[in-house]
Amino acid sequence: MITAVFGDALLNPATGETTRNAVVLIEDGRVTSAGQRNGTQVPHDANQVDAEGLTLLPGLIDCHVHLTSLGEGLDFARELTTPPTLELMRAVRAARRTLDAGFTSVRDAAGSPAGVRMAIDAGYFPGPRMFVTISALSQTGGHTDSHFLCGADLDIPLPDRPHMVVDGVENMRVRVREVIRAGADWIKLCTSGGVLSPGDQPHHSALTLEEIQAAVHEAATHGMKVMAHAQANAGIKNALKAGVATIEHGIWLDGDAIEMMLDGGNALIPTLVAPHWVIRHAEAGKMPAYAIGKARAVIDDHKASIRQAIESGVKIAFGTDTGVGPHGSNGEEFLLMRDLGMEPIDCIRSATTVAADTIGMKGVGRLEAGCWGDVIGVPGDPLENLELLSKPENVQLVVKGGEVVKRLNG
Ligand SMILES: [Zn+2]
Repeated sequence: MITAVFGDALLNPATGETTRNAVVLIEDGRVTSAGQRNGTQVPHDANQVDAEGLTLLPGLIDCHVHLTSLGEGLDFARELTTPPTLELMRAVRAARRTLDAGFTSVRDAAGSPAGVRMAIDAGYFPGPRMFVTISALSQTGGHTDSHFLCGADLDIPLPDRPHMVVDGVENMRVRVREVIRAGADWIKLCTSGGVLSPGDQPHHSALTLEEIQAAVHEAATHGMKVMAHAQANAGIKNALKAGVATIEHGIWLDGDAIEMMLDGGNALIPTLVAPHWVIRHAEAGKMPAYAIGKARAVIDDHKASIRQAIESGVKIAFGTDTGVGPHGSNGEEFLLMRDLGMEPIDCIRSATTVAADTIGMKGVGRLEAGCWGDVIGVPGDPLENLELLSKPENVQLVVKGGEVVKRLNG
């Protein structure tokens, strides 16, 4: 089947150029051409999608989401009364909202088992293309150790979601193999503490260099890369030394860490919006007290750290940690990136070309022949007005693989 999407304009993030009176042709899910209407042969049996008034661009990519997290604050009583199947079903609604916000591809940074990706690919429910990490591996007492002081443990391993706590080099090797066996596309480690975990601190490193190296080596053997939840300076540096590909959050970068990232070509995924959501949930009474204090304590350092990385030319890939905030709110991150000095075109690249290259997902982030026919449309020029990408209601058209999955009439 052939689909022809007609828009007022087409923004190519790779070149930064905008083409007027554009058409994107999609056949069997893949782009066959994208450019000016004049000179494009549109087959008359094509399914015509009228996106007059809209600027078209490739579907957006979020490199850090948690589709099985509710995004409505942290309520331990609620978690204790949530069966694992219900937790899984949260991904159905989250996937729809993510797609509606214009994000047609995501990397899930833990929570979603491979079955969520498989279900979306099979068309059981609408959602973005996914890469999954399944389990976020951390040390005993670390960021994903869900033991509480009372002795209860909220991390219930599932057959397809291995236990998240692991210590020691040999155990790390085995656990990474288990996560890969369960269908992971990326490996996720926590090389520092975090804001939402009760028993650790964001400025403390976690896992030893040897443990991280073991994970990186084991992943590489399977052609996979590692992402690190890394907030503490020492945790960032350990991750980089060990060969981790992407640094998530990066609250306390310094000149040396930035130098290492530039040398290694690593990408930074800032997730600037995440601490804002912790504070917003807290103000609504939906966050435990320990998390509020930690979020308030890190927010300014986080901004300063990311600003320094932007100014130094570190590769920035778009990621939000949505699942902390509500699904569908991903686009707000664009405004926070811009506020720290990123040009609008670089903000858009971070969620298209740069994100695709960073996570290594083929055929996304671009509208070249052979890429997936993932197209979104907004009423105006996002280079002039980034707000157009920041709210789901501004994303009036979403096409995934040539199929219209959202159409609002503005
Ligand atoms: Zn996260």
